Amino acid sequence: QSPLAGVPQAPKDPMFGLSAAYRADTDPKKVDLGVGAYRDNNAKPWVMPVVKKADEILRQTPDLNHEYLPIAGLNEYLSASQQLVFGEDSPILKDHRVATMQTISGTGALHLGARFLHKFFPESEAKRVYVSSPPYVNHLPILHDARLETGFYPYYTPTTKSLDFENLLSTLETIPRNSIVLLHACAHNPTGVDPTQSQWRQIASVMRERHHLPFFDSAYQGFASGDLDADAWAIRHFASLDFPALLVAQSYAKNFGLYGERTGCLHVVTQEAELAGRIGSQMEKLQRVNISTPPAYGARIASTILNSPALFAEWQSDLKTMSGRIVEMRKALRSLLENGKGGEGKWKHLTEQTGMFCYTGLDPEQVRQLREQWHVYLTGDGRVSVSGLNWGNVRYVAEAFGGVTG
Ligand code: PLP
Repeated sequence: QSPLAGVPQAPKDPMFGLSAAYRADTDPKKVDLGVGAYRDNNAKPWVMPVVKKADEILRQTPDLNHEYLPIAGLNEYLSASQQLVFGEDSPILKDHRVATMQTISGTGALHLGARFLHKFFPESEAKRVYVSSPPYVNHLPILHDARLETGFYPYYTPTTKSLDFENLLSTLETIPRNSIVLLHACAHNPTGVDPTQSQWRQIASVMRERHHLPFFDSAYQGFASGDLDADAWAIRHFASLDFPALLVAQSYAKNFGLYGERTGCLHVVTQEAELAGRIGSQMEKLQRVNISTPPAYGARIASTILNSPALFAEWQSDLKTMSGRIVEMRKALRSLLENGKGGEGKWKHLTEQTGMFCYTGLDPEQVRQLREQWHVYLTGDGRVSVSGLNWGNVRYVAEAFGGVTG
Protein backbone atom coordinates (compact mmCIF):
# COMPACT_ATOMS: atom_id res chain seq x y z
CA GLN A 1 0.00 0.00 0.00
CA SER A 2 1.17 3.51 -0.80
CA PRO A 3 2.37 5.58 2.15
CA LEU A 4 0.11 8.26 0.68
CA ALA A 5 -2.98 6.06 0.62
CA GLY A 6 -4.67 8.13 3.32
CA VAL A 7 -4.67 11.36 1.28
CA PRO A 8 -8.28 12.61 1.25
CA GLN A 9 -9.95 14.15 -1.80
CA ALA A 10 -9.90 17.95 -1.56
CA PRO A 11 -12.98 19.89 -2.66
CA LYS A 12 -12.71 21.68 -6.02
CA ASP A 13 -11.90 25.38 -5.89
CA PRO A 14 -15.35 27.01 -6.21
CA MET A 15 -14.17 29.70 -8.67
CA PHE A 16 -12.46 27.32 -11.03
CA GLY A 17 -15.43 24.90 -10.70
CA LEU A 18 -17.79 27.66 -11.82
CA SER A 19 -15.66 28.34 -14.94
CA ALA A 20 -15.65 24.62 -15.77
CA ALA A 21 -19.47 24.46 -15.48
CA TYR A 22 -19.76 27.49 -17.77
CA ARG A 23 -17.45 25.97 -20.37
CA ALA A 24 -19.43 22.72 -20.33
CA ASP A 25 -22.75 24.53 -20.95
CA THR A 26 -23.65 24.27 -24.66
CA ASP A 27 -26.47 26.86 -24.66
CA PRO A 28 -25.54 29.73 -27.03
CA LYS A 29 -27.15 32.27 -24.67
CA LYS A 30 -24.85 31.39 -21.76
CA VAL A 31 -23.19 34.28 -19.90
CA ASP A 32 -20.13 34.10 -17.65
CA LEU A 33 -20.43 36.58 -14.77
CA GLY A 34 -18.05 34.62 -12.56
CA VAL A 35 -14.72 35.18 -14.22
CA GLY A 36 -12.29 37.35 -12.23
CA ALA A 37 -10.59 38.70 -15.33
CA TYR A 38 -11.45 41.58 -17.64
CA ARG A 39 -13.42 40.78 -20.78
CA ASP A 40 -13.98 43.15 -23.72
CA ASN A 41 -17.30 43.94 -25.38
CA ASN A 42 -17.05 40.62 -27.27
CA ALA A 43 -16.59 38.66 -24.01
CA LYS A 44 -12.95 38.01 -24.98
CA PRO A 45 -9.75 38.48 -22.95
CA TRP A 46 -8.17 41.83 -23.81
CA VAL A 47 -4.44 42.27 -24.25
CA MET A 48 -3.96 45.96 -23.55
CA PRO A 49 -2.48 47.80 -26.58
CA VAL A 50 0.30 49.23 -24.40
CA VAL A 51 1.19 45.72 -23.20
CA LYS A 52 1.41 44.58 -26.83
CA LYS A 53 3.79 47.45 -27.51
CA ALA A 54 5.99 46.64 -24.54
CA ASP A 55 6.02 43.02 -25.68
CA GLU A 56 7.24 44.09 -29.15
CA ILE A 57 9.95 46.26 -27.62
CA LEU A 58 11.15 43.37 -25.46
CA ARG A 59 11.17 40.94 -28.36
CA GLN A 60 13.34 43.32 -30.36
CA THR A 61 15.81 43.86 -27.52
CA PRO A 62 19.13 42.32 -28.49
CA ASP A 63 20.74 40.01 -25.94
CA LEU A 64 17.58 39.56 -23.91
CA ASN A 65 18.13 36.27 -22.14
CA HIS A 66 16.57 33.89 -19.67
CA GLU A 67 19.01 34.37 -16.82
CA TYR A 68 17.74 34.46 -13.23
CA LEU A 69 16.59 37.78 -11.83
CA PRO A 70 18.07 38.89 -8.49
CA ILE A 71 16.32 37.31 -5.46
CA ALA A 72 14.42 40.54 -4.72
CA GLY A 73 13.46 40.97 -8.39
CA LEU A 74 14.17 43.31 -11.30
CA ASN A 75 15.63 46.52 -9.86
CA GLU A 76 13.98 49.06 -12.14
CA TYR A 77 10.64 47.27 -11.68
CA LEU A 78 10.90 47.46 -7.89
CA SER A 79 11.58 51.18 -7.80
CA ALA A 80 8.88 51.99 -10.37
CA SER A 81 6.40 49.89 -8.38
CA GLN A 82 7.22 51.79 -5.19
CA GLN A 83 6.57 55.07 -6.99
CA LEU A 84 3.28 53.80 -8.36
CA VAL A 85 1.99 52.78 -4.95
CA PHE A 86 3.31 55.55 -2.73
CA GLY A 87 3.61 58.42 -5.23
CA GLU A 88 6.79 59.76 -6.82
CA ASP A 89 7.37 62.40 -4.15
CA SER A 90 6.67 60.21 -1.16
CA PRO A 91 9.05 60.79 1.76
CA ILE A 92 9.02 57.02 2.24
CA LEU A 93 10.98 56.66 -0.99
CA LYS A 94 13.27 59.64 -0.37
CA ASP A 95 14.15 58.24 3.06
CA HIS A 96 14.50 54.65 1.79
CA ARG A 97 12.05 53.42 4.39
CA VAL A 98 10.46 50.68 2.30
CA ALA A 99 11.65 47.16 1.57
CA THR A 100 10.19 45.74 -1.65
CA MET A 101 10.22 42.24 -3.11
CA GLN A 102 8.95 41.13 -6.50
CA THR A 103 6.36 38.40 -5.92
CA ILE A 104 4.19 35.84 -7.68
CA SER A 105 1.44 38.39 -8.34
CA GLY A 106 -0.85 39.57 -5.51
CA THR A 107 -1.31 36.08 -4.09
CA GLY A 108 2.45 35.64 -3.71
CA ALA A 109 2.70 39.07 -2.09
CA LEU A 110 -0.01 38.20 0.42
CA HIS A 111 1.67 34.89 1.07
CA LEU A 112 5.13 36.40 1.56
CA GLY A 113 3.67 39.10 3.81
CA ALA A 114 1.84 36.47 5.86
CA ARG A 115 4.94 34.30 6.20
CA PHE A 116 6.99 37.34 7.17
CA LEU A 117 4.47 38.35 9.85
CA HIS A 118 4.24 34.80 11.15
CA LYS A 119 7.97 34.76 11.60
CA PHE A 120 8.66 38.28 12.87
CA PHE A 121 5.50 39.83 14.32
CA PRO A 122 5.95 39.58 18.09
CA GLU A 123 4.01 36.79 19.82
CA SER A 124 1.13 38.34 21.77
CA GLU A 125 -2.58 38.20 22.32
CA ALA A 126 -2.87 40.49 19.32
CA LYS A 127 -1.07 38.27 16.83
CA ARG A 128 -4.11 37.81 14.64
CA VAL A 129 -4.99 39.12 11.21
CA TYR A 130 -8.46 40.65 10.85
CA VAL A 131 -10.11 40.36 7.45
CA SER A 132 -13.33 41.90 6.13
CA SER A 133 -16.61 40.04 6.48
CA PRO A 134 -17.21 38.92 3.78
CA PRO A 135 -13.55 38.35 2.90
CA TYR A 136 -11.84 37.93 -0.47
CA VAL A 137 -12.12 34.19 -1.09
CA ASN A 138 -8.40 33.46 -0.77
CA HIS A 139 -7.50 35.67 2.22
CA LEU A 140 -8.24 33.16 4.97
CA PRO A 141 -6.67 30.18 3.16
CA ILE A 142 -3.47 32.15 2.55
CA LEU A 143 -3.26 33.41 6.14
CA HIS A 144 -4.03 29.98 7.61
CA ASP A 145 -1.47 28.37 5.33
CA ALA A 146 1.08 30.71 6.92
CA ARG A 147 -0.22 29.54 10.33
CA LEU A 148 -1.58 32.94 11.32
CA GLU A 149 -4.66 33.29 13.50
CA THR A 150 -7.52 35.27 11.95
CA GLY A 151 -10.59 37.23 12.93
CA PHE A 152 -13.23 39.31 11.13
CA TYR A 153 -14.19 42.96 11.07
CA PRO A 154 -17.73 43.80 9.88
CA TYR A 155 -17.73 45.36 6.43
CA TYR A 156 -21.01 44.99 4.60
CA THR A 157 -24.69 45.54 5.43
CA PRO A 158 -26.89 43.34 3.20
CA THR A 159 -30.04 45.42 3.74
CA THR A 160 -28.49 48.63 2.43
CA LYS A 161 -25.89 46.86 0.27
CA SER A 162 -23.31 49.31 1.55
CA LEU A 163 -20.48 49.69 4.07
CA ASP A 164 -21.19 48.67 7.67
CA PHE A 165 -19.12 51.63 8.81
CA GLU A 166 -20.20 52.01 12.45
CA ASN A 167 -19.55 48.36 13.27
CA LEU A 168 -16.31 48.33 11.28
CA LEU A 169 -15.00 51.28 13.27
CA SER A 170 -16.15 50.03 16.66
CA THR A 171 -14.56 46.63 15.99
CA LEU A 172 -11.24 48.29 15.19
CA GLU A 173 -11.59 50.14 18.49
CA THR A 174 -12.24 46.99 20.52
CA ILE A 175 -9.91 44.32 19.07
CA PRO A 176 -6.60 44.02 21.00
CA ARG A 177 -4.09 46.81 20.43
CA ASN A 178 -1.32 45.95 17.94
CA SER A 179 -3.58 43.74 15.81
CA ILE A 180 -2.94 43.21 12.10
CA VAL A 181 -5.74 44.43 9.82
CA LEU A 182 -5.96 43.37 6.18
CA LEU A 183 -7.59 46.13 4.11
CA HIS A 184 -8.57 46.31 0.43
CA ALA A 185 -6.95 49.43 -1.06
CA CYS A 186 -9.85 49.93 -3.49
CA ALA A 187 -12.53 47.97 -5.36
CA HIS A 188 -13.27 45.60 -2.48
CA ASN A 189 -13.68 42.01 -3.64
CA PRO A 190 -16.37 40.60 -3.40
CA THR A 191 -18.66 43.51 -2.41
CA GLY A 192 -17.54 46.37 -4.68
CA VAL A 193 -18.05 48.66 -1.65
CA ASP A 194 -15.25 51.04 -0.65
CA PRO A 195 -15.04 53.52 2.25
CA THR A 196 -15.21 57.21 1.29
CA GLN A 197 -12.11 59.33 1.90
CA SER A 198 -13.63 60.68 5.08
CA GLN A 199 -14.37 57.14 6.31
CA TRP A 200 -10.82 56.05 5.42
CA ARG A 201 -9.49 58.97 7.50
CA GLN A 202 -11.46 57.75 10.50
CA ILE A 203 -10.38 54.13 9.98
CA ALA A 204 -6.74 55.23 9.74
CA SER A 205 -6.99 57.40 12.80
CA VAL A 206 -8.49 54.61 14.94
CA MET A 207 -5.88 52.16 13.66
CA ARG A 208 -3.04 54.59 14.45
CA GLU A 209 -4.40 55.21 17.92
CA ARG A 210 -4.81 51.48 18.62
CA HIS A 211 -1.37 50.67 17.13
CA HIS A 212 -2.82 48.26 14.59
CA LEU A 213 -0.69 47.21 11.65
CA PRO A 214 -2.27 47.99 8.25
CA PHE A 215 -1.74 45.31 5.60
CA PHE A 216 -3.16 46.56 2.29
CA ASP A 217 -4.20 44.28 -0.53
CA SER A 218 -3.93 46.39 -3.69
CA ALA A 219 -5.16 44.32 -6.63
CA TYR A 220 -7.01 47.00 -8.60
CA GLN A 221 -4.98 50.25 -8.69
CA GLY A 222 -6.16 52.21 -11.72
CA PHE A 223 -8.68 49.56 -12.62
CA ALA A 224 -11.34 50.74 -10.16
CA SER A 225 -11.67 54.41 -11.10
CA GLY A 226 -9.39 54.61 -14.13
CA ASP A 227 -7.15 56.93 -12.07
CA LEU A 228 -3.99 55.44 -10.57
CA ASP A 229 -3.63 58.14 -7.93
CA ALA A 230 -7.26 58.08 -6.82
CA ASP A 231 -7.11 54.31 -6.35
CA ALA A 232 -3.96 54.62 -4.23
CA TRP A 233 -5.44 57.35 -2.04
CA ALA A 234 -6.14 55.17 0.99
CA ILE A 235 -2.66 53.63 1.03
CA ARG A 236 -1.02 57.03 0.63
CA HIS A 237 -3.14 58.51 3.39
CA PHE A 238 -2.13 55.74 5.80
CA ALA A 239 1.50 56.11 4.67
CA SER A 240 1.38 59.83 5.47
CA LEU A 241 0.42 59.01 9.09
CA ASP A 242 3.75 57.32 9.63
CA PHE A 243 2.60 53.97 11.02
CA PRO A 244 5.48 52.09 12.65
CA ALA A 245 4.91 49.38 10.02
CA LEU A 246 2.66 49.08 6.99
CA LEU A 247 2.47 46.34 4.35
CA VAL A 248 1.18 46.49 0.79
CA ALA A 249 0.56 43.45 -1.42
CA GLN A 250 0.47 44.79 -4.97
CA SER A 251 -0.81 42.91 -8.01
CA TYR A 252 -0.40 43.79 -11.69
CA ALA A 253 -2.79 41.02 -12.78
CA LYS A 254 -5.80 43.25 -13.39
CA ASN A 255 -4.36 46.68 -14.16
CA PHE A 256 -1.94 45.37 -16.81
CA GLY A 257 -3.98 42.28 -17.69
CA LEU A 258 -0.88 40.24 -16.82
CA TYR A 259 -2.91 37.58 -14.99
CA GLY A 260 -0.94 34.48 -15.99
CA GLU A 261 2.45 36.21 -15.86
CA ARG A 262 2.19 36.40 -12.05
CA THR A 263 3.55 39.90 -11.57
CA GLY A 264 3.40 41.69 -8.21
CA CYS A 265 5.29 43.17 -5.26
CA LEU A 266 5.27 43.16 -1.50
CA HIS A 267 6.20 46.47 0.15
CA VAL A 268 7.02 46.75 3.85
CA VAL A 269 7.20 50.35 5.08
CA THR A 270 8.87 51.31 8.34
CA GLN A 271 9.95 54.50 10.10
CA GLU A 272 13.67 54.13 9.37
CA ALA A 273 15.93 53.08 6.51
CA GLU A 274 18.16 50.86 8.60
CA LEU A 275 15.20 48.72 9.74
CA ALA A 276 13.85 48.58 6.17
CA GLY A 277 17.25 47.20 5.15
CA ARG A 278 17.09 44.44 7.76
CA ILE A 279 13.51 43.58 6.80
CA GLY A 280 14.55 43.39 3.14
CA SER A 281 17.34 40.97 4.06
CA GLN A 282 14.89 38.67 5.87
CA MET A 283 12.34 38.82 3.05
CA GLU A 284 15.10 37.77 0.65
CA LYS A 285 15.70 34.73 2.83
CA LEU A 286 12.01 33.81 2.74
CA GLN A 287 11.89 34.42 -1.01
CA ARG A 288 14.91 32.18 -1.56
CA VAL A 289 13.28 29.16 0.10
CA ASN A 290 9.87 29.79 -1.47
CA ILE A 291 10.60 30.59 -5.10
CA SER A 292 14.35 31.30 -5.18
CA THR A 293 13.92 34.17 -7.64
CA PRO A 294 10.79 35.66 -9.22
CA PRO A 295 9.67 35.17 -12.85
CA ALA A 296 11.11 37.72 -15.28
CA TYR A 297 8.72 38.23 -18.16
CA GLY A 298 5.77 40.04 -16.55
CA ALA A 299 8.12 42.26 -14.57
CA ARG A 300 9.95 43.23 -17.78
CA ILE A 301 6.66 44.16 -19.46
CA ALA A 302 5.49 46.18 -16.45
CA SER A 303 8.86 47.82 -16.03
CA THR A 304 9.06 48.83 -19.71
CA ILE A 305 5.73 50.64 -19.37
CA LEU A 306 6.24 52.11 -15.89
CA ASN A 307 9.64 53.55 -16.84
CA SER A 308 8.63 55.16 -20.15
CA PRO A 309 6.61 58.40 -19.86
CA ALA A 310 5.04 57.81 -23.29
CA LEU A 311 4.01 54.23 -22.57
CA PHE A 312 2.84 55.21 -19.09
CA ALA A 313 0.47 57.76 -20.65
CA GLU A 314 -0.86 55.11 -23.02
CA TRP A 315 -1.39 52.78 -20.08
CA GLN A 316 -3.49 55.42 -18.33
CA SER A 317 -5.68 55.65 -21.38
CA ASP A 318 -6.04 51.84 -21.61
CA LEU A 319 -7.04 51.80 -17.93
CA LYS A 320 -9.75 54.33 -18.72
CA THR A 321 -11.00 52.10 -21.53
CA MET A 322 -11.39 49.16 -19.13
CA SER A 323 -12.82 51.03 -16.16
CA GLY A 324 -15.04 53.12 -18.47
CA ARG A 325 -16.58 50.01 -20.04
CA ILE A 326 -17.29 48.60 -16.61
CA VAL A 327 -19.00 51.80 -15.47
CA GLU A 328 -21.03 51.82 -18.70
CA MET A 329 -22.21 48.23 -18.09
CA ARG A 330 -23.13 48.98 -14.48
CA LYS A 331 -25.30 51.87 -15.68
CA ALA A 332 -26.86 49.83 -18.49
CA LEU A 333 -27.79 46.91 -16.24
CA ARG A 334 -29.21 49.22 -13.60
CA SER A 335 -31.35 51.18 -15.99
CA LEU A 336 -32.64 48.07 -17.77
CA LEU A 337 -33.59 46.49 -14.43
CA GLU A 338 -35.13 49.64 -13.01
CA ASN A 339 -37.17 50.19 -16.16
CA GLY A 340 -38.39 46.61 -15.97
CA LYS A 341 -41.39 45.31 -14.03
CA GLY A 342 -40.96 45.62 -10.23
CA GLY A 343 -37.38 46.90 -10.49
CA GLU A 344 -37.97 50.57 -9.69
CA GLY A 345 -35.43 51.97 -7.23
CA LYS A 346 -34.06 48.55 -6.34
CA TRP A 347 -30.78 48.46 -8.20
CA LYS A 348 -28.93 51.66 -7.32
CA HIS A 349 -26.17 49.64 -5.66
CA LEU A 350 -25.12 48.47 -9.14
CA THR A 351 -23.75 51.93 -9.88
CA GLU A 352 -22.81 52.88 -6.32
CA GLN A 353 -20.40 49.97 -6.01
CA THR A 354 -17.08 50.13 -7.83
CA GLY A 355 -14.45 47.99 -9.55
CA MET A 356 -14.63 44.62 -11.18
CA PHE A 357 -17.29 43.15 -8.91
CA CYS A 358 -20.81 43.86 -7.83
CA TYR A 359 -22.61 42.29 -4.92
CA THR A 360 -26.09 42.03 -6.37
CA GLY A 361 -27.95 40.81 -3.30
CA LEU A 362 -29.22 37.77 -5.25
CA ASP A 363 -29.51 34.77 -2.92
CA PRO A 364 -28.12 31.25 -3.52
CA GLU A 365 -31.49 29.98 -4.78
CA GLN A 366 -31.75 32.83 -7.30
CA VAL A 367 -28.15 32.17 -8.35
CA ARG A 368 -29.07 28.50 -8.90
CA GLN A 369 -32.09 29.45 -11.01
CA LEU A 370 -29.98 31.84 -13.06
CA ARG A 371 -27.57 29.07 -13.81
CA GLU A 372 -30.09 26.28 -14.47
CA GLN A 373 -32.86 28.18 -16.21
CA TRP A 374 -31.04 31.10 -17.80
CA HIS A 375 -27.47 29.78 -18.31
CA VAL A 376 -26.13 32.84 -16.45
CA TYR A 377 -23.21 31.96 -14.17
CA LEU A 378 -22.23 33.85 -11.01
CA THR A 379 -20.86 32.84 -7.61
CA GLY A 380 -23.26 31.56 -4.93
CA ASP A 381 -22.89 34.76 -2.88
CA GLY A 382 -24.52 36.76 -5.71
CA ARG A 383 -21.29 38.40 -6.86
CA VAL A 384 -21.21 39.49 -10.48
CA SER A 385 -18.05 40.15 -12.43
CA VAL A 386 -19.23 43.23 -14.28
CA SER A 387 -16.83 42.86 -17.19
CA GLY A 388 -18.71 39.68 -18.17
CA LEU A 389 -21.47 42.04 -19.34
CA ASN A 390 -21.43 43.57 -22.82
CA TRP A 391 -23.83 45.21 -25.26
CA GLY A 392 -24.60 41.77 -26.69
CA ASN A 393 -25.81 40.21 -23.42
CA VAL A 394 -26.79 42.95 -20.96
CA ARG A 395 -30.47 42.93 -22.00
CA TYR A 396 -30.64 39.18 -21.63
CA VAL A 397 -28.97 39.35 -18.20
CA ALA A 398 -31.42 42.06 -17.08
CA GLU A 399 -34.28 39.86 -18.25
CA ALA A 400 -32.80 36.91 -16.34
CA PHE A 401 -32.29 38.93 -13.12
CA GLY A 402 -35.82 40.30 -13.45
CA GLY A 403 -37.05 36.74 -14.01
CA VAL A 404 -35.58 35.38 -10.78
CA THR A 405 -36.34 38.42 -8.59
CA GLY A 406 -39.76 39.43 -9.93
N1 PLP B 1 -6.53 40.22 -3.78
C1 PLP B 1 -7.73 40.47 -4.27
C2 PLP B 1 -8.68 41.30 -3.49
C3 PLP B 1 -8.10 39.94 -5.51
O1 PLP B 1 -9.32 40.21 -5.98
C4 PLP B 1 -7.18 39.16 -6.24
C5 PLP B 1 -7.57 38.55 -7.49
O2 PLP B 1 -8.71 38.36 -7.82
C6 PLP B 1 -5.91 38.94 -5.65
C7 PLP B 1 -5.63 39.49 -4.43
C8 PLP B 1 -4.83 38.11 -6.24
O3 PLP B 1 -4.69 38.08 -7.57
P1 PLP B 1 -3.33 37.67 -8.29
O4 PLP B 1 -2.62 36.68 -7.45
O5 PLP B 1 -3.79 37.10 -9.58
O6 PLP B 1 -2.56 38.93 -8.43
